[in-house]
Amino acid sequence: MKTFNVPIIYRSPLISAIKQQRKQQDRMKKDFSPTLLDFGPLRILLARHFGFCYGVENAIEIAFRTVEENEGKRIFLLSEMIHNPQVNSDLLSRGVRFLMDTSGKQLIPWEDLRPDDIVIIPAFGTTLEIESRLQSLGITPLQYNTTCPFVERVWNKAEQIGAKEYTVIVHGKPKHEETRATFSHSRSHTPTIVVKDMEQTHRLAAYIKGETPAEGFYEEFKGQYSEGFDVTRHLERVGVVNQTTMLASETQAIADYVKQAIQEKYALPEDRISERFADTRDTLCYATNDNQTAVTGMLESAADLAIVVGGYNSSNTSHLVELCEEKLPTYFISSEEKLLSRNELLHYDFHHSQELHSFRFLPEKEPVTLLLTSGASCPDAIVEAVIRKLLSFYGLEEKVDEAAAAFAG
Ligand code: SF4
Repeated sequence: MKTFNVPIIYRSPLISAIKQQRKQQDRMKKDFSPTLLDFGPLRILLARHFGFCYGVENAIEIAFRTVEENEGKRIFLLSEMIHNPQVNSDLLSRGVRFLMDTSGKQLIPWEDLRPDDIVIIPAFGTTLEIESRLQSLGITPLQYNTTCPFVERVWNKAEQIGAKEYTVIVHGKPKHEETRATFSHSRSHTPTIVVKDMEQTHRLAAYIKGETPAEGFYEEFKGQYSEGFDVTRHLERVGVVNQTTMLASETQAIADYVKQAIQEKYALPEDRISERFADTRDTLCYATNDNQTAVTGMLESAADLAIVVGGYNSSNTSHLVELCEEKLPTYFISSEEKLLSRNELLHYDFHHSQELHSFRFLPEKEPVTLLLTSGASCPDAIVEAVIRKLLSFYGLEEKVDEAAAAFAG
C-alpha cells in the first residue's frame, strides 16, 4: 500500500517498530492476535491493527502540503478534516479555518469566501450541493480534495445499482459528514433513504412488506429520504450501502434483514432475489474491517479492562468501544491527558454523549492486563503517550524506549 508523508509528530518509534515487525511476520494479514507488551505489573495487549488508515494519511498529507505550499493564502476546511482533536487543532494552529462544524452548522458564512481562497474537502467527502456552492463562489471545488477513495467507492456502488433502477438504502449516521455526502451523491442517481440502525431497519421493513400504512413513512423518516421518494414504489427494488465505518456485524444484519423483507413480500426464492435486491456486499472499508477484527482477536485474551483511544466524535472508534464493552470494563479516552492518576480518569460515554469522571479503573492486583487499541484517525504518538502515562503510574516510564529498541531489533 502507498506510503504517505505524515508529520513526524504523529508517529511513534514504539508503535512503528511493533507494526513493522508484525507486518513482516504476517504479510497476508491473517493473524489477528494482539501484541503483548509485558512490563511486569502492567501487561498491555495491543491490537493487531489500529491507528491511521490509508484515507486519513492521504488527507493529512494533502492538507499539510497545501498549507506549506500556499503561504499567505486563506485556507479553509469545509469541516473537521478527520475526527481527531489533535490533528484538527494542529491545522487550526497553522491558520486553517473551518467553514462548518461536524453537524453542518455554518461557522463562517459562504459570502466571506473569495475566488482565490483555498477550500479543502475533508476525508469524508462532501455533498454535490456544497460543491455547486463553491463553484458559484468562483472556487474550484475539488482542487484540494482529501476524500478517501474508500468513500468514493461507496458512491460508485450507489451509482451502479441506481443505474439498474434499485433504490439505495444507506446504512449510516444521518448527521455524519460521510453519510450526508453519500446520500447527496446517491440521490443524484436514484431514490435514496438513510437508515441509522437496526431499529429503523425494522420499521423500514414494515413499509417494504406493506405492514405499516404508507402515510406514516414521510414523518417517520423525515430528513432521511430523497426528494420525491414514493414509499409505494421506491421500496420494490433495493440495495444497501454503508457509511464506511459502521459496525460490521450490524451492517451485515441490516442487509440480511432488508433482503429477507423483500424475499417475504415478493415470495422470491434465493436464486431470484437479485430481481429485487442488489448484491452490494458490504461497503465498509478495509480499515474498519481490520480494526474491528483485531479487536475481536484481542478480546479472546483474558484481560481486566480495555482502553480505546480516539476522537469522541469518531464513528469508527466508537464501534471499537462497543465491541470491547461487550466483554470488559472499557474506557474511551481521547488522549493520555484523560488519565489523571493511577486511580482517576476522564472518559467518554458515547451512548449518552457525555464525559465521565471515574475512579479505580486500574485494579489493585498485579499484574494488570489491559487491552489497548485506537481509531483510524488517532495518531500512534497518542497511543504511545497513553502507554507512557500508564507506565508512569507504576514508575516504569523508561520501559517504553527499551520496548521500542527491542521491537526494532
Ligand atoms: S476509515 Fe476507511 S473510509 Fe474512513 S478514511 Fe479511513 S480508509 Fe477511508
